[in-house]
Amino acid sequence: MAPGQICVVEDEPAIRRGIVDALRATGYRVSEAADGELGLRQAAQAGVDLVLLDLLLPRKDGLDVLMELRKVRPTLPVIILTARGTEDDRVRGLKMGADDYVVKPFSARELLARVEAILRRAAGRPQDVCAARLGHARIDFERREIRWSEKQRAERSETEGALLRFLLTNRERAISREELLSRLWGLSPQGIETRTIDMHVARLRNKLRDPSGKNTPEAILTVRSQGYMAGPDLVPVESTRANGKSA
Ligand code: CA
Repeated sequence: MAPGQICVVEDEPAIRRGIVDALRATGYRVSEAADGELGLRQAAQAGVDLVLLDLLLPRKDGLDVLMELRKVRPTLPVIILTARGTEDDRVRGLKMGADDYVVKPFSARELLARVEAILRRAAGRPQDVCAARLGHARIDFERREIRWSEKQRAERSETEGALLRFLLTNRERAISREELLSRLWGLSPQGIETRTIDMHVARLRNKLRDPSGKNTPEAILTVRSQGYMAGPDLVPVESTRANGKSA
């Protein structure tokens, strides 16, 4: 089994060195970054299988990195590296979609065990969706485009794309407005803000309506008192991972 590629985002040189060496010695390919901005760019690269993410980082906070990363790679496994006494951050990180955390100082052995466990779990997970079909429309997430024919296209925003992608990736369940808010915007749900989600959904539904007037299947279903869910006719076209495994 190919061990995979891991991105290490940690500003403390000694800690980063230790992690990188341990991973390489085990056979992983490793990329590394010492600040949040570079970290986000590295982590979002195709081919990365898992991210080790420190929270206190120069230039961009670890939680911001996580939130932005989730928009482009919603299913990429992320393990948070955290100092003691920062339970709030840890909980926020897990709520925002981190898969696990390790508390500093940790041993190389513990870290490697976590990495291995998360990668094993991720292998059975839906892959990142790069495109979808809805009736005869094709929704392309890389190009931010909805296309019915060569002539009929619509643009959609990054947020609308992230929303649609998140529903698709979790298509087996209804997602509450609160979860959508915290996963996509990193906001803690407080009453009125959840209406933001309804507005985005309404706009997206409009854009997904067939301009020729033929009946379009429903892309997003409203599940009463639960939230939103991908409709049965919204079908993901799954991406191929860098290790050559195709869906
Ligand atoms: Ca740090």
